[in-house]
Amino acid sequence: MSILPITVYGDSILRKKASPVLEIDDTLISIIRNMFQTMHNANGIGLAANQIGLAKRVFIVDVSPVEGYEKIKPMTLLNPKIVSKSDDLDSYEEGCLSIPELKSEVIRPKGIEISFFDLDMKEYKMEVDDLIARVIQHELDHLNGVLFIDHLSEENKKKFKKHLNKIKNRKLDVGYPITESSTYTLYK
Ligand code: ZN
Repeated sequence: MSILPITVYGDSILRKKASPVLEIDDTLISIIRNMFQTMHNANGIGLAANQIGLAKRVFIVDVSPVEGYEKIKPMTLLNPKIVSKSDDLDSYEEGCLSIPELKSEVIRPKGIEISFFDLDMKEYKMEVDDLIARVIQHELDHLNGVLFIDHLSEENKKKFKKHLNKIKNRKLDVGYPITESSTYTLYK
């Protein structure tokens, strides 16, 4: 297994709509293993494939480090789709491994119903709420080239501009490996 560099704000792949996974081969399985190691190393609870430079519709979630969620097993979701959203909204402070050291409240639906495929290409439907719904919506955004800061008001975005430029120009000390250039992809 290996720890992969994480793409950061300003990297072009984070703004790309990822393409569906059509087949699962050993390469993809080994990339997903590496994604788990990369995410755990960075103390993250979710990671999308474009955050390690692969524009495919895959993300992983492991909320077990969070108090109260210790028993929730790590998940790998392929080609996920939101089937329905609750009318109830919720505000929660989000962060992102691709936007180090920036946190902000984001309003999203409290619960969602999703469909996705697992590593055997078996389709599942699942209803989730609170933290898991939050992480899944954040990661699904990634697959569509959307970042959590896109949900903020113009005023808040302005407040973060300086910090975002620091990230973009790699002028920030990040406690885990990040990409060296904004055009990084996993495959040259
Ligand atoms: Zn993120």
